[in-house]
Amino acid sequence: MTAKLLFCPFCRECFEDTDRCPDHDLVLVPFEALPMPPREQEDDAPVPILDPKRGRAELIVAALGLLGGFVAPLVTVSAVTASGATRVQTFTALAAAAERAPNLWAIPVAGALFASLVARRRTPIQMRGARLAALMVAVTPIVSIVYSVRRMMTAASLEQGVSVSVEAGAYVVVIASIVAIVGSVRFGGALRAHGTAPSSPDTGVSPR
Ligand SMILES: [Zn+2]
Repeated sequence: MTAKLLFCPFCRECFEDTDRCPDHDLVLVPFEALPMPPREQEDDAPVPILDPKRGRAELIVAALGLLGGFVAPLVTVSAVTASGATRVQTFTALAAAAERAPNLWAIPVAGALFASLVARRRTPIQMRGARLAALMVAVTPIVSIVYSVRRMMTAASLEQGVSVSVEAGAYVVVIASIVAIVGSVRFGGALRAHGTAPSSPDTGVSPR
């Protein structure tokens, strides 16, 4: 006499000589009828390109912020000329990158990278695989903008009558960089630890 092995659709344990899971009180099913764990199914399924979940919204916002901040006013330099007139000039990060601060190119490069990650990494497994790389890139705009703005301010402080004020673009880049850090950490969603049963079944089978 061979007892038929049956499985709990929730915890996936197998049992003999009973038709209900002692832990979950669910009707046991044969192996073939066992549903695939929802988390595994989800992890392989691609999401739509503009799906905002799993850190994707943050990375889209960060990409737009980095590209927008790059072409927005970064600093305004006021200089008193020899004749006593004040010359005021506003620079974007783009202009500064083209002229004297090439490290600022890190800003649009990071923005383009986040846009491409969101477009190309479509399954949670692929997204999580890019998390560390995204995080490393996410810190570069903030580092390069702080470095360059400080350098400009230091240079200005050494000259008579020159002052530098920080404009909105710098703040936009800093905020976008922080949003990118958050999005990178969340990219792909949370990993559920294996072997730990969640507190409520989410297999679509309701316990009786
Ligand atoms: Zn069970």
